[in-house]
Amino acid sequence: MINVLIFGAPGSGKGTQSARIAQTFGLEHVSTGDILRKEIADQTSLGILAQDYIKEGHLVPDEDVVAMLEHHLEGKLGKVKGFIFDGFPRTIPQADALKRMLARHDCEVSIVLDLNVPEDELIRRLLERGKISGRSDDNLEAIKSRLVVYNSQTLPLKEYFRKEGTLTPINGLGDMDDIFASISEAIDSVL
Ligand code: AMP
Repeated sequence: MINVLIFGAPGSGKGTQSARIAQTFGLEHVSTGDILRKEIADQTSLGILAQDYIKEGHLVPDEDVVAMLEHHLEGKLGKVKGFIFDGFPRTIPQADALKRMLARHDCEVSIVLDLNVPEDELIRRLLERGKISGRSDDNLEAIKSRLVVYNSQTLPLKEYFRKEGTLTPINGLGDMDDIFASISEAIDSVL
């Protein structure tokens, strides 16, 4: 299996690029944000628990997100060509949990794409998206909180994956097709 992780701040373009990666490389797109938004729309017990965390720009607790992902991947691990994980892991305990989940099926993380975009551009993009996304967290207050959470809880993962030798920096500024071309080249190199 090929397991691609896409790592980057909110607004870095993870969702857009992940959809293209899934299509081009035949991988399953797993976005924990999308799964959580569906749980909220369906008002499941997880959705009800998650909605306030999301609205405030905080992370949903690790144990809940890990259990949700385990459930989502059940029956697929080891059977599909691979996954593109978008928005997971976001903390070190989540990264450890993913590693264990993959290892149980003799799989591992193949590559971690680190999409780099400066903070002023992230805020500009998220505010622009907020005009049409209808998302509860695309407003300035929640965006600021998401960036603080990203810098404190998610950024340490860069060092984690750098040590594992899987971290691949990608320039996330500029034309979407050019960004996708760099991503494709990086994925091709591990196929
Ligand atoms: P995203 O669509 O990836 O920007 O995620 C939107 C929101 O969903 C985040 O700000 C978090 O509140 C929550 N979320 C998504 N993925 C995770 C995760 N892996 N761990 C904790 N919370 C998450």
